[in-house]
Amino acid sequence: MLEQLVGDSKALERAIAGDELSFKDGMDLMNLENFHMLGAVADVSREKLVGDTVTFAASYYMNYTNVCAASCQMCAFYRKGDEDDAYTLTPEQIEKRVSTAKDLGATEVHIVGGFHPTLQLDYYENMMKIIKKNHPELNIKAFTAAEIFYLSKLTKNSIKEILSRLKDAGLDSMPGGGAELFHPDIRNKIVRGKCTGQEWLDTIEQAHNLGIKSNVTMLYGHIEKPEHVIDHLLKIRELQKKTGGFITFIPLKFSLDNTDLEKEHLVTNESSSVYDLKVIAISRLMLANVLNNISVYWVAYGKKLAQVALSYGGNDLVGTAFSEEIYRAAGKATDSSVLELANLVKEIGRKPVQRDTFFNTVNTF
Ligand code: SF4
Repeated sequence: MLEQLVGDSKALERAIAGDELSFKDGMDLMNLENFHMLGAVADVSREKLVGDTVTFAASYYMNYTNVCAASCQMCAFYRKGDEDDAYTLTPEQIEKRVSTAKDLGATEVHIVGGFHPTLQLDYYENMMKIIKKNHPELNIKAFTAAEIFYLSKLTKNSIKEILSRLKDAGLDSMPGGGAELFHPDIRNKIVRGKCTGQEWLDTIEQAHNLGIKSNVTMLYGHIEKPEHVIDHLLKIRELQKKTGGFITFIPLKFSLDNTDLEKEHLVTNESSSVYDLKVIAISRLMLANVLNNISVYWVAYGKKLAQVALSYGGNDLVGTAFSEEIYRAAGKATDSSVLELANLVKEIGRKPVQRDTFFNTVNTF
């Protein structure tokens, strides 16, 4: 049935057949006019791979510092350290917040921060240890590959040494942030003082090799062109074939408010809903043979568009995002309860499942 409707798009035909899509296929899909058909094919692919469940985790988001040695043009979160609202939490303060999160039902803590210019490795180890000691059942998902790379440069320890020590101290998994867009033509214009795309990939590969699984993201909707999105997806696919260490792919829609890209008028609008849905659908199809989970980050899309995106290839809502501060700094509402997310899923006729960090079932509704 679907085969008869795809028209003359060879890329869609190949996607339906379950073939591995090439760079050219990806570009053809980005340029396809009938994006509803693209969504329908992605939805069929999603159903084949993961069925009708839509997952989400009860996660607590914690930013231990907003002080950052970098000053990325796409970031509204960083402070230089002398502003009134610059902060750095002690490991004890962090543990206290984690305790509250556990009372709210969180099964994982998602901990990231700026590139703090003076904090040493023992600060991060102590943070892991105090959380693990008091909350051994919580999954500690902490530090982007970009933070680990920075810490390696700052402390002159190898990446492997840092990851091993953090793992020994309690680190269970890593978030997918800092990937932004790997392609240097774009990356060099949206980040300042952050690792290259290849360095991010090399760092996360080392984490996977040490048994630390991670998510992976892509920041889109600013100055990129279609080829940069496809390039990013192909690089993820190649590494996933090698390590199998990515848990889910999370496309992150660029949020404009309070960023240098906005102030310098380099980006004047956030991406359209059509483009957002296209990105979700194409991510599903390009990664179809290697990564089952495509996450729809409702904090960035809003809950209504997130519901639609779940019919364009998405199968996961990421999580409750208690206390998310990075998108909040860029003007987005955050926080949701598990029941609210379950209801969003029920409204579209799918089956809500609360999951843990590794996509094991925690609760059904
Ligand atoms: S994106 Fe991360 S590294 Fe870049 S300025 Fe913001 S906090 Fe710092």
